[in-house]
Amino acid sequence: MSARPQSSTRKIAIIGGGVIGLSIGWRLAASGLSVALFERGKAGHGASWAAAGMLAAGSEVEPGESELFGLLKQSQANWPAFAAELAQASGLDVSLRTEGTITIALSQDEVGRLRQTYALQQQLGVNSQWLTRTEALEREPYLNPRLAGAILVPGDHQVENRILVQALKLAFTRAGGSLFEGIGNAGIKTASGRAVGVSAGGIDYPADTIVVAAGPWSPEIEGLPAIASPPVRPVKGQMTALAMDPTSPILTHVLWTQKAYLVPRRDGRLLIGATTEERGFDTAITAGGMLSLLESAWRALPGIEEMPIIESWVGFRPGSRDDAPILGETSIEGLILATGHHRNGILLTPITARTIARLVLTGETDPAIAPFGLSRFEDQDSKGTKSWKSA
Ligand SMILES: Cc1cc2nc3c(=O)[nH]c(=O)nc-3n(C[C@H](O)[C@H](O)[C@H](O)COP(=O)(O)OP(=O)(O)OC[C@H]3O[C@@H](n4cnc5c(N)ncnc54)[C@H](O)[C@@H]3O)c2cc1C
Repeated sequence: MSARPQSSTRKIAIIGGGVIGLSIGWRLAASGLSVALFERGKAGHGASWAAAGMLAAGSEVEPGESELFGLLKQSQANWPAFAAELAQASGLDVSLRTEGTITIALSQDEVGRLRQTYALQQQLGVNSQWLTRTEALEREPYLNPRLAGAILVPGDHQVENRILVQALKLAFTRAGGSLFEGIGNAGIKTASGRAVGVSAGGIDYPADTIVVAAGPWSPEIEGLPAIASPPVRPVKGQMTALAMDPTSPILTHVLWTQKAYLVPRRDGRLLIGATTEERGFDTAITAGGMLSLLESAWRALPGIEEMPIIESWVGFRPGSRDDAPILGETSIEGLILATGHHRNGILLTPITARTIARLVLTGETDPAIAPFGLSRFEDQDSKGTKSWKSA
């Protein structure tokens, strides 16, 4: 970026009020910039509301994603300080729980797959422990006693993402940010190859820099030039929540099985997620989706059988072609992307906020996000690797 005006006179516009837009907005407003955030509906009610809040860099390792793992690990390390700073700025505790995450295998087949995950974790330097059946049951006595093996990742924590969005909203506005909610779709204005402003709900807002943080809707923003459009699509996830007795919860760690995960909250909710479906923005909660989640959860934790279902919902992960986020400048001067966080947007919030704020403030691309720019897809396309990886 070239010739940016003095901090006090620079105007920044952010499109999208999920964890990504709000956290970047908070960092920038706290640095003294004039920041306006445009959210078409209610801030924090997109993917950021639907999420399970797991900070699971180690448990979710996948072969071929070691570069992404490096980014996830850095952000995970930032979480305790980020949560403390946010609590101070907002007065809200985001309920960072540190019991860790257990992944279990319920058959010999599943043990084979779990051993591969364990080997990959060891190779990548994840602090994980193989647990025998007895060791797993000592930690979680209500697990299916026929389990055949387990892995504990003590550093994979969780936060209450619905409090997180409220906290970010408060921190952003308290730092002086202007939040425009319920204004319908915001659009981008460009002139002579640079971003010049945002239009939304009858407001025309001139801006020196625009940050696109509209999650899975990012490519649909009106006025976004094709050359800067991120290859992001919605990856549907259905979830459901049961009510445990908060005074004697039947689970304390986050629990992964081969087909579902269970996340116990302090208020007694037990979240069960999530399906992974390529169905565009289909909002249906389906019998098949619920059956698969509940069956997998029941196999792992039979005690859920009598628990009331208190809520079921659908959310859309912003999935990129390679499942990694798209962070950084575009070839349109003043237009920055912060999207495509897929299944890790809550985990990646601290590092995204820090590095995108740095880019806006100084024009410098932090080395942590250098591999995650939009240009990597141009490179892939020129090599003829255009296929979309399924999430
Ligand atoms: C079922 C499910 C479970 C998940 N679990 C986890 C998890 O455990 N851990 C984890 O780290 N991540 C998880 N994720 C992923 C995480 O939720 C997302 O990566 C993250 O919330 C993305 O944040 P965002 O701010 O980019 O998007 P969003 O939260 O979707 O926010 C985008 C916002 O942009 C607004 N918007 C769109 N278009 C416009 C426009 N034109 N003008 C104005 N506003 C606009 C939308 O209304 C929306 O509020 C999960 C996601 C799902 C769906």
